[in-house]
Amino acid sequence: MKQVYIETFGCQMNKADSEHMLGLLDEINYKPTESIDEADLVLFNTCTIRESANHKFYSQLGIAGKLKKNKPFLIGVGGCAAQDKKDWLMKNFPYVDIVFGTNNIQSLPEFVKKAEKGERVCEIVNELPFELPELPVIRQTKVTAWVNVILGCNFNCTYCIVPSVRGRERSRKPEDIKKEIEILASQGFKEITLLGQNVTAYGYDLALNYSKEKAVFGHIPDDPEYSLAKLIRYIHDVDGIERIRFLTGHPFHVTDELIETVAELPKACEYFHIPMQSGDDTVLRRMARVYTAEKYKKMADKIREKMPDAAITSDFIVGFPGETDEQFLNTVKIVKDLNFDGCNTAAYSPRPDTPAAIWENQIDDDVKNERLRYLNSVINDVSEEKNKKRLNTTQEILVEGNSQRNEERLSGRTRTNVLVNFDGDKNLIGSLVNVKIKEAKPWSLDGEVIL
Ligand code: SF4
Repeated sequence: MKQVYIETFGCQMNKADSEHMLGLLDEINYKPTESIDEADLVLFNTCTIRESANHKFYSQLGIAGKLKKNKPFLIGVGGCAAQDKKDWLMKNFPYVDIVFGTNNIQSLPEFVKKAEKGERVCEIVNELPFELPELPVIRQTKVTAWVNVILGCNFNCTYCIVPSVRGRERSRKPEDIKKEIEILASQGFKEITLLGQNVTAYGYDLALNYSKEKAVFGHIPDDPEYSLAKLIRYIHDVDGIERIRFLTGHPFHVTDELIETVAELPKACEYFHIPMQSGDDTVLRRMARVYTAEKYKKMADKIREKMPDAAITSDFIVGFPGETDEQFLNTVKIVKDLNFDGCNTAAYSPRPDTPAAIWENQIDDDVKNERLRYLNSVINDVSEEKNKKRLNTTQEILVEGNSQRNEERLSGRTRTNVLVNFDGDKNLIGSLVNVKIKEAKPWSLDGEVIL
């Protein structure tokens, strides 16, 4: 038996890919280890969407390179950075043995076998195989699981590298997804999150009359044969699964059908993570986001009209090239007006090979950082206020495990994805419990189990 240490950067999709890499490596007898010192294979699953993740990867790669001088092991690099910079990685990091992309994960065992024989492997393919392979998986979680349902993205946001490293949208067949969820249910998983870079476009490409040309920039077919809403309905009857979530949506594809389905089906959690990115129409147009602030607001109103307790969370980028103070303040205003339940924020960082990276009107780092600080303080206040409204309410919590901050306590999430910490018996892990909320913080709640 050999051991693999895997380090994952970036989003949930990358984390889900890493679980598949572990599943594939298990087939050639590599078992996961949490210690890099014990590893026969060190694997980096990379992300280039944020500069910080990219920097962290190169720093960790350097550390692995130094360790390798004292003890031989293989080093593999997969994910978005590998897809984007394969030749550069091979040339500048001679101690890297394997470079593979986001579209050929299924060949990882073959690459490792070659590397074991001393061959350096660099294989990137630009397109996913026509028939999406069903990959084995070793889960890193016990109660909640990620399930990839669509890969790639058809949009071309001017700051984003995903379309060039992940390719165009490709959906898995509903039957294959259901089979995977039935297995998860039989293993005791209680919650699944359907994943995709643009999960709300799920299924459109599976229709017989699908046209690649039409699909560019977010086409929504009339009366689609397959859709995310239909998928949620199709998997809803899997016994044992108590909650269904989806991540990450695009505002353009949040249809009435989807909102009504989530409102109607009890296992579909009323939680919408729908990145808005900016509250200013000029910036949104330059980002090529294909909606206006008003259109986003209408979508949020519709969700809240059907589900008054639904949570809507978002991502925002500040300091996009050319963003004026006034345009930035439009973002601040919309964060307050829409009363988001939580937001991820980032200062714009130019990603190589994206249109916005070479625009001349880049914003100074000092200005970006100042805007980021200000927006974060507004977001903290908004979410703390929202959390305070949950004081003394009773929330249904799926107990996921021990609290990260205090091993003696338990933690889980509300249906709206808010983290709740509380005291309780470890036997509760994996079950739904009612918790009375006693304390509200900006990003989490504390409570007591009601027996
Ligand atoms: S919707 Fe835009 S930001 Fe999201 S993955 Fe697609 S191109 Fe990137």
